[in-house]
Formats: sequence, C-alpha cells, structure tokens
Amino acid sequence: MEFIGWEVLIRKDAILLFQFCKKLGYKKISIETNGTKLADFSFFESILQAGVTNLVMSIHGSSPEINDMHTWLKKSFQMKQEALENASILSEKYEFEMFTNYVVTLKNIEDVPRFIGYIQKYTYLKNYIFAFCRPLPLYEETYGEYLVPFSLLKKVFDSLPLDKKIRIQYLPYCVLDPEKNEVFQEGFFKWKKQSTTRIDWDGKIRSLENAIQDHTLYFHECESCKYKNSCRWVWAEYADFFKMKAPPLLESIQ
Ligand code: SF4
Repeated sequence: MEFIGWEVLIRKDAILLFQFCKKLGYKKISIETNGTKLADFSFFESILQAGVTNLVMSIHGSSPEINDMHTWLKKSFQMKQEALENASILSEKYEFEMFTNYVVTLKNIEDVPRFIGYIQKYTYLKNYIFAFCRPLPLYEETYGEYLVPFSLLKKVFDSLPLDKKIRIQYLPYCVLDPEKNEVFQEGFFKWKKQSTTRIDWDGKIRSLENAIQDHTLYFHECESCKYKNSCRWVWAEYADFFKMKAPPLLESIQ
C-alpha cells in the first residue's frame, strides 16, 4: 500500500489509516513525506508502530539555504535533519526502509556532490533518490530558472564517487548510463495499458495515454533504441525549451 502525493502525515487520521492497512494484511506500507512531521520523535515512532515500513523523505539540498529555497519553508532543512537523526535512533529498534528524494534543479545541481557527502553519514538509508525536475506547462515562465540541461546533469552525476548506484527518475535512459545508474521510470507502454483518466496540468481531462503522448517527444532515433518500450522519452516542453533535435547523448546506450 502506498501513500503518495500530497502529505499524508498531516491527516488527523494518518495513524488510523496505517493501522487499518496493517489490519487488512498489507506487509508493505509506504509513504512519501516532506519529513517535517518526522522531526517529532514520538510521532515518528507511532507511525512505525502503526505499520509504516517504507519512507521516502524529500530533501533538496545539503544546507538550509539550498533546501529551504526549494521548499519555501523556513526551518524546513532543520526539521528534515531532525527527522534523519530520529530515523537513525529508531532504525535500531524498528525495521523500516528509508530513502531520501532530491528534486534536481538548476538551483541545486552543483550541490549534489556536497549533498552526497552530507547524507552518507546516515548509513541506515537504503538509497538516495534523485528526481529530475520536469517541465510543467503551468510553470513555463520558470523553466529557465529550474530546468537542468542534460549535459550538466551528466557531468555532475558521472563525477560522483559512490559505492552504490544512484536511483534517478523521470529521465530518458540515454542521459545517464543505465548500467551504472538505477534509472527508474515506468515507460509509456506500461502506462498505455492503464485506462485511468486524470486532470492534466492545463486543467483538461485526459487519459494517461493521451497525457503522456501530448507531453513527450519520440524522436525517430528512438525507434531503433533498445529502451524504446521502457523509456518515457523526452518531455516535449523540455525539448522545445532546449531546442533539441535528437535524443540526448544517444551514443551512451548504443
Ligand atoms: S533514444 Fe529515445 S527511447 Fe532511447 S533512451 Fe533515448 S529517449 Fe529513450
């Protein structure tokens, strides 16, 4: 059972929900959180007792300046740090898996190596997820401020001294070597099988298939790519903004 999107921990019935899932027999109960509620040790412990087994906590920088600039919340970094310290103590008593999630933007890409240095001391963390900042048409005027060119992303990530694979999502496979990095995403053909509709970024109701089709670009080079069925390709808005004429760094996967 996964609680993703928005912030489940601010719900008054969050504990009851987790207890109910546990009672129903779910062995794995996952949450995504901004971590602020986890700064409270006894609350953190109570969600573990209620059945939460997996946590993904967002943190977007190695310092208050960089993280809080992205969260628009003062003391957000401090609370996340307290959450990490609490998790460190609780990991000795409870079994749970925890990941961090760092959305990579133009404002924090240079901080990634420092972040890796900072986060490695929390040895109980299973991995550090990085999510590539996607172009949402609603925020078109901020593309220049936030979108990271693939070449810069590759330069920074290829230089990281790591003993484990980086998990990164929302990225076409040809940007970072998928043999060295754990690029994870659900390809277009998987989404195509789902008939779900949703309210899209522009307020229109679209099926997932149409939403992805409208916002992604399938270059003719993708046709012969071994990842074409699992890749989500390049976002149309991204390709448009950076005036891309071909998939990024295609040679890295040939
Ligand atoms: S060439 Fe196309 S299908 Fe292949 S990894 Fe790149 S974007 Fe994805």
